[in-house]
Amino acid sequence: MQLTVWTYEAPPHVGAMRIAAAMEGVHYVLHAPQGDTYADLLFTMIERARKRPPVTYTTFQARDLGGDTAELFKTSVKEAYERFRPQALLVGASCTAELIQDDPGGLAQALGLPVPVVPLELPAYQRKENWGAAETFYRLVRTLAGPSVPPPGSKRPPRAPDQAPRCNILGPTSLGFRHRDDVHEVTGLLHRLGIVVNVVAPLGASPADLARLGEADFNVVLYPETGYQAAQWLERSFGQKSTKVVPIGYGATCDFVTEVAALAGVDPAPVLADTRSRAPWYARSVDSTYLTGKRVFVFGDATHAIAAARIAAEELGFEVVGLGTYSREFAREVRAAAAKYGVEPLITDDYLDVEEKIAAAHPELVLGTQMERHTAKRLGVPCAVISAPVHVQDFPARYSPQMGFEGANVLFDTFVHPLMMGLEEHLLQMFREDFEFHADAAPSHLGSHGAAAAARAEAPSVTATAVAAAVAAPVAPVATPVLEPAAAVAAPVLDHASPVPSADGGPVSPPPASPPIRWAADAEKELRKIPFFVRGKARRNTERFAQDRGLSLITVETLYDAKAYYSR
Ligand code: SF4
Repeated sequence: MQLTVWTYEAPPHVGAMRIAAAMEGVHYVLHAPQGDTYADLLFTMIERARKRPPVTYTTFQARDLGGDTAELFKTSVKEAYERFRPQALLVGASCTAELIQDDPGGLAQALGLPVPVVPLELPAYQRKENWGAAETFYRLVRTLAGPSVPPPGSKRPPRAPDQAPRCNILGPTSLGFRHRDDVHEVTGLLHRLGIVVNVVAPLGASPADLARLGEADFNVVLYPETGYQAAQWLERSFGQKSTKVVPIGYGATCDFVTEVAALAGVDPAPVLADTRSRAPWYARSVDSTYLTGKRVFVFGDATHAIAAARIAAEELGFEVVGLGTYSREFAREVRAAAAKYGVEPLITDDYLDVEEKIAAAHPELVLGTQMERHTAKRLGVPCAVISAPVHVQDFPARYSPQMGFEGANVLFDTFVHPLMMGLEEHLLQMFREDFEFHADAAPSHLGSHGAAAAARAEAPSVTATAVAAAVAAPVAPVATPVLEPAAAVAAPVLDHASPVPSADGGPVSPPPASPPIRWAADAEKELRKIPFFVRGKARRNTERFAQDRGLSLITVETLYDAKAYYSR
């Protein structure tokens, strides 16, 4: 058992739904209890799909468990086939149905339907959504392209000289983060290289299209989490090589163009000479100088996290202070990337672990999923979303790819937007008493939302208890202590002596810890000269410095001693 409040991924049958919903002419019969139809809303509300996903649920109830649930499943398959007339049928079980072991695959095969039936074995208690999507896509590809596999040992015939190189694009799905626009962007890029796209799959593909996958010269794997497994099988079966570089970021897109051109036997130079991307110049322009060295924490699926870390470090000059993923299947790749930036890789699907690591790393920017957006909000750190899981606002109406040269433009704006702008950063330091650009002001381009974040950034240290309390509370704003000018000594910030209520409401004994730490008024005043976006970190470091030395009062001298200590 694992206590779970938020999960980064849904059960694997939702991954299977993402494949079925992405394709044309495929229907999925899911043995599932009443209530599992909640998953439809992911598609119709978050992705704002125009139609329901092509899924028939058996929706068995408690009273059905005393009867024949296998018969219920068979009836559902027959009715779904009659009603939807799909070209291929997926059958499988959700978590609860897995426990009653009705064998959906065997039952459906026994019906003798005139279309391919693909049984899905998705272990819901060991695997998650992305694995479910990858496995489903692989099973479909194997079933539908399998009959065209040449005999073992056959050599792939060379492409005719008058024929343009052809590739498949693998991996984009329904409910994928910016998949729709990424496909458009990458297709345009391939077109400029003179490469024809044979099939895009699963997004928009039919079973007949999957049967043609072997006709391409090579495969472009856009999302390894969903497409890599099928690409490996295609490589083994048809001798098709596949791309390794994911074109997210300017540098990665240039590498991708070079890699694809080599696979296709074409010249990448014209495309590389005319990238049509503003991102590299924007990053080099003098206005971006202030971005250098900004501390960034990156977390997401492996593909997007690795790409975002590279952009942050190599294209924007940020310092990567944390890198992690919830994609356990791609932990090795994330570990290798983390080693490049000299940070400890974080492989976890527990958002509290992620929150703790973010708090400890004191970043000035978080790049993560919707979960990290909430975490960063609580910690008062600017944040941008770079990976699923995402809310409805990350399925935007406007064109917003992450991939290709236009994707690099989008990402430049995405990473920089939550930060204080350079001019304002200077104004804050020069005119601390100004009614608008005062020491506590937030980025004014973010309006009142930014002001709230600024207030939280200045909040006292985030202890493990405070984190737990904040997590338990539904995103309550953290109060900022108000300084009375006349007060000789500011309020304590780490008061271990105060009893904390126990789970049952009664007071519990405080731990026998170090004495409470107080800030002298002049030290607090000195601290407030530091711009708000680094003030929280300065406060925490100074308190840690004082605590380690058993000091109970922080003076101006302590503040500067701590500064000297941490900047060594
Ligand atoms: S069967 Fe699985 S997906 Fe459905 S409600 Fe139970 S745990 Fe959730």
